Amino acid sequence: MRVVVDLTRCQGYGQCVFMAPEVFSMTGAEALAYDPEPSEAQRGHVLRAAAACPVQALHVDHVGAPEPDHEPGPHPAPDGDDFKRTGRIVIVGASLAGMRAAAVLRREGFAGSLTMIGDEPGEPYDRPPLSKQVLTGQVPARNTVLPPLAGLGAEWLCGVPATGLDLDRRRVRLADGRDIGFDRLLIATGTRARPWPDAAEAALDGVVTLRTAEDATRLRRRLTGAGRVLVIGAGFTGSEIASVCRHLGRPVTVAERGAAPLVGALGGVIGAVAADLQRAHGVDLRCGVSVTALEGDGGRLRRARLSDGDTIEVDLAVAALGAVRNVEWLEGSGLAAGPWGVACDAGCRVFDINGLVTDDVFAAGDVARLPHPVYEYQFLTLEHWGNAVAQAEVAAHNMVSGQTRRWPHLALPVFWSSQFGVDIKSVGVPTFADEVMITQGTVEEHRFVAVYGYRGRITAAVTFDQGMWLEFYQGLIEQAAPFPPEFRTVDRPEATSPVPAEVPDRVAASHGATVVVTGHDPAERRAWLVHRSR
Ligand SMILES: Cc1cc2nc3c(=O)[nH]c(=O)nc-3n(C[C@H](O)[C@H](O)[C@H](O)COP(=O)(O)OP(=O)(O)OC[C@H]3O[C@@H](n4cnc5c(N)ncnc54)[C@H](O)[C@@H]3O)c2cc1C
Ligand code: SF4
Repeated sequence: MRVVVDLTRCQGYGQCVFMAPEVFSMTGAEALAYDPEPSEAQRGHVLRAAAACPVQALHVDHVGAPEPDHEPGPHPAPDGDDFKRTGRIVIVGASLAGMRAAAVLRREGFAGSLTMIGDEPGEPYDRPPLSKQVLTGQVPARNTVLPPLAGLGAEWLCGVPATGLDLDRRRVRLADGRDIGFDRLLIATGTRARPWPDAAEAALDGVVTLRTAEDATRLRRRLTGAGRVLVIGAGFTGSEIASVCRHLGRPVTVAERGAAPLVGALGGVIGAVAADLQRAHGVDLRCGVSVTALEGDGGRLRRARLSDGDTIEVDLAVAALGAVRNVEWLEGSGLAAGPWGVACDAGCRVFDINGLVTDDVFAAGDVARLPHPVYEYQFLTLEHWGNAVAQAEVAAHNMVSGQTRRWPHLALPVFWSSQFGVDIKSVGVPTFADEVMITQGTVEEHRFVAVYGYRGRITAAVTFDQGMWLEFYQGLIEQAAPFPPEFRTVDRPEATSPVPAEVPDRVAASHGATVVVTGHDPAERRAWLVHRSR
């Protein structure tokens, strides 16, 4: 059986642990860990746990609402739309967003042909457990496979990447020479780990990244050794890996170019709390420090040189440098796709390179970039599990709905991370802030709520082991409630007032691509994507 816990909803009440202790466990006050593929013998316990979960966060054998069994074939479409009966939909990227979209398409009565194209060879799997339960050894990577979609009636073309898109002919080209026709296309190709920038150093035995199940298996094997681990980059993935190292008793150094861990996502004030948490757990944390070189002997990693002049002996280095969007296959397609992602409108319809919206090409998940009204229509790319699911649902609905029935993707971003026994959650966009204030709990105990404000309104909230409050703050963000908050809370700290959030300036990523506009006559004016370096 397959189990997925929507950890954005989970509030750590622990009823599931009580009902099925062999499947679920708490790794701190609120951080839940679980086996995504327990034995059939556990089914009764797991179903009881799912029924007991007060926030319905437990999904058994499906992700999201259960899908009705569906036999593909002609049947009357509810709105008489021919496309629903005979259309051809192709989804490129057979992972979380792609799978969820496929399920929703069928749920909405799409009975036409559905083709899933994915470059990974095996069954689609869930990534969040990779940096948590899989690295600790609690479950093997193969147990993270997503629940199968029974009765989906799709053609699966897996293990073969899409290499091109011809929009005029409406065909997706595959690496093996085939090309697949479509009427509507969903782009859900996600991201990959940004590699260590020096190719020779990256090739040293002992230099790794983490994105796939295979990466996790390899890293898990190496973590059972004894020597020092170097984690390069203290974003969420790097911090979770450091946490696992300490859990396993491995010495670990974290080198972070910014002022604190998680600073790029949560700002400097909460980043300082994360730094305190890391050091309290024995991490050798070096902030404001870059790794300038990785050196080896006979092809094996031996040491790392740091920008402060220090050298450390290491036998494993994990480059946790963020993600690169999988958009290369869209080059020359005429879509607004570049290193920044695939730009689309709030209904997930992709823009062409001129900024005109297309009607038959949609995007969802980590690869998509779309404007959010709550954040002044800024285009956001969100690498969050919950966003991939919610956006895929909107994209799929819109793919089979007429103009007047389409939905906007207005869900606020929600994220979770488990590290050092603490469950960290956020709602909204913490970097869209000028001030932050602790409204509940105590920072010293690593159990609090921080609320972020921008020009007098609440824009985000971050909780450390206080996940139960997230929904409340989500409502305040949606209502543009005033900041600083005016209400009293049960455990409000005695002296609390807003302080600057210390959100770092957005560093312009070295995108290597830019858009230029040519022509004078409005009928001729066109935008072009120019790659500056290769
Ligand atoms: C280690 C790790 C831990 C995480 N932890 C958390 C967490 O705690 N909380 C949270 O909210 N989120 C977490 N995430 C993020 C979350 O997993 C992602 O947001 C989610 O996987 C996005 O789903 P997606 O379908 O958009 O993209 P992906 O999961 O990246 O899937 C895209 C798929 O498309 C395939 N593909 C790419 N190019 C092509 C091509 N040309 N042709 C065919 N197929 C292609 C890829 O190989 C991949 O299978 C974590 C991610 C990782 C890697
Ligand atoms: S909220 Fe649900 S999934 Fe989370 S710990 Fe409680 S019972 Fe388990």
